[in-house]
Amino acid sequence: MLDIRDLRVEVGGRTILDGLSLAVGAGEVHAIMGPNGAGKSTLAHVLAGRDGYEVTGGSVTFAGADLLALEPHERAAAGLFLGFQYPVEIPGVSNLLFLRTALNAQRKARGEPEISGAEFLKRVRAEANALGLDMEMLKRGVNVGFSGGEKKRNEALQLGVLQPRFAVLDETDSGLDIDALKVVAQAINRFRAPDRAVLLITHYQRLLDHVRPSHVHVLAGGRIVETGGPELALRLESEGYERHAA
Ligand code: ADP
Ligand code: MG
Repeated sequence: MLDIRDLRVEVGGRTILDGLSLAVGAGEVHAIMGPNGAGKSTLAHVLAGRDGYEVTGGSVTFAGADLLALEPHERAAAGLFLGFQYPVEIPGVSNLLFLRTALNAQRKARGEPEISGAEFLKRVRAEANALGLDMEMLKRGVNVGFSGGEKKRNEALQLGVLQPRFAVLDETDSGLDIDALKVVAQAINRFRAPDRAVLLITHYQRLLDHVRPSHVHVLAGGRIVETGGPELALRLESEGYERHAA
């Protein structure tokens, strides 16, 4: 589904990703762990097409297409979703309007009709209930006045409503208390399906107690330096990243 080959990325003239290769197949959940500043969020932003990240080498193929040639909105329409490490606040744009507009833009790109208001509210209500988010809150500006945990749950709400094919979740677990962590983990598990895939960027192993990954990778020095199964995350938890120090 996603095939990253020898990816090189510069930010502000500095090489951050330096020959990163990674392949994620349908139905798989890959966790990427690594020390602070390793380039995990850089990878997420490059996949989403954020400005300011210069690809200087390598390729990214998504569902057979050259992902890097697409505009950010085209990537979203192709089914790519990014849950931000630091969700942004958008004052003046209601959460519900934002979600409905995003969903309809994707339906349009797939040649589907717009969702009816009733059907949309039904879907949002079900997801919001499962995530413990208040519908009244969703009438407010996107993430405005939300606590850190509420912002992360709101990312999970977007995931549930938009139902993308490929979700990149950047530290969706950070800043969550144990109960909220479980709720968000359940949302990720509900999302898992044979025709979908997840790239789970996480600093800690604790999320992986709830969302069992098929693969675990260590990103250090701008590339994937080690790959294993869930046991690798446990080992990192006890050993740290010392052996990967540059
Ligand atoms: P991680 O998510 O693994 O902690 P990041 O991808 O956020 O790491 O950052 C990797 C490196 O790139 C860091 O040294 C960071 O300071 C640098 N970096 C990231 N974004 C920018 C930016 N917009 N401008 C300058 N440097 C950046
Ligand atoms: Mg990060």
